[in-house]
Amino acid sequence: MGKTVIISNRLPVQLQIDGDTITAIPSVGGLATGMKSVHSGGDSLWIGWSGLTDEEIPEGLAPKIDQALKKHGSSKVNLTEADVDGFYYGFSNRTIWPLFHYFLEYTEFELESWNTYVAVNQKFADAILEKSEDDDTIWVHDYQLMLVPQMVRQQRPNISIGFFLHIPFPSFEIFRTLPWREKILEGLLGSDLIGFHTYNYERHFLSSVRRLLGLEVSFNEIYKDDRVIKVDSFPMGIDYKKFSDAAKEHDEKKENQQSELQQRLNTHKESDPDAKFILSIDRLDYTKGIAKRLNGFEYFLNKYPQYKEKVRLIILAVPSRSNVPQYQLLKKEVDELVGRINGELSTVSWTPIWYFYRSMPFDNLIDLYTSSDIALLTPIRDGMNLVAKEYIATRTDRTGVLILSEMAGSANEMNESLLINPNNFEQIADSLYEAINMPVEEQKSRNRFLQKRLERYNVEKWANDFMRSLIDQKERIHTKV
Ligand code: UDP
Repeated sequence: MGKTVIISNRLPVQLQIDGDTITAIPSVGGLATGMKSVHSGGDSLWIGWSGLTDEEIPEGLAPKIDQALKKHGSSKVNLTEADVDGFYYGFSNRTIWPLFHYFLEYTEFELESWNTYVAVNQKFADAILEKSEDDDTIWVHDYQLMLVPQMVRQQRPNISIGFFLHIPFPSFEIFRTLPWREKILEGLLGSDLIGFHTYNYERHFLSSVRRLLGLEVSFNEIYKDDRVIKVDSFPMGIDYKKFSDAAKEHDEKKENQQSELQQRLNTHKESDPDAKFILSIDRLDYTKGIAKRLNGFEYFLNKYPQYKEKVRLIILAVPSRSNVPQYQLLKKEVDELVGRINGELSTVSWTPIWYFYRSMPFDNLIDLYTSSDIALLTPIRDGMNLVAKEYIATRTDRTGVLILSEMAGSANEMNESLLINPNNFEQIADSLYEAINMPVEEQKSRNRFLQKRLERYNVEKWANDFMRSLIDQKERIHTKV
């Protein structure tokens, strides 16, 4: 059996250049962690963009970069600034991202960025073709690389290819608006296995394949030429142990070992034992429903004024894609909304919203998760939402209430949380009231179920399940031939 080749837009390492010295630092993100068991040293290779454009790589340093990446089992795809503009900021994030999240009004259909998307997908496919053999297993990740499976298949008809989409796949009525809809489907159908987070995304994809390409679909299999393509759902989990261990360690820290942020949170808790912290963490993205959440919180304070001066909403918004205009507008909208609500409702001793626009180190995330009585996550549309799972994993004493949008993929596995429609302020307000007043025993019983499920279906299991399914599919094809 050959090696495993993983392909994603970004490599799981960060490059640091200091004069002539190059250091590659492994990233700690969800995908990198999840793939640990698949991407285990010797017999696997990860292909992706390094984060530096050709223009940014100092002359003569490319071979050193290749060496540094090689130590981490990685190999880079070279992209120019124009490639990144058209492919990443253009087609991926101004066409596919908004369209697949049902934001038709934000979706741009630009021929030029589509052409760059095709050319860059070909660069990734070429890199795979150069580095792989026929008996290797290829796993392609996400919406930036949907044409890659077919591009590889054309040259290597017998190689095994899996594809996983980390964002929603929209319903046919939305997907059909894309001018290049058939090309995207055909690109994906170069795979032997196509994975989604939920059964609904899978169902939408199969319906588009049937209606746009007229292919035969039976249950979760697609028949194309002489090939059978399997489609399935694999809900991505988290590194449960990492979060629950960090929370346990956090609980054991003495006051003087705690972070400054934690000490500040303690001071506020001690000043009023009845006070509650409500937490939300997300990238500053229009899909996350941050403005609706703020409006919902304001509505709650007006409907249940007894909680003024008692509850605080802590918003951590992580900067994201800030050179796409929609994200700049969103930043302005959220800044203004926080300013207006705080301006109208604050008192000398109370600010209703604490707003952080930055990313926080892991330890501070744990401080926030473990100190918050409620997590309020209201995406308008979200492929999965891992923050919901991380919050539950850190609740070592099993207290805490999760209020989660039913539009998040994770809602499918988190029925014991309070599920809400993010457009329904009345429901957000009433769920906050219910969460604040939920008996501790009920909190614990709900979280017991949630934790058990998250611990079992962790990110390692997600990656292994996908790989096992891909290998099974390969064996079936092989036996047929
Ligand atoms: N996160 C982070 N730094 C921060 C805040 C959050 O690394 O300052 C992480 C968080 O722990 C989670 C991820 O970002 O793992 C967000 O994943 P999610 O699925 O919720 O949303 P996405 O950003 O992928 O749409």
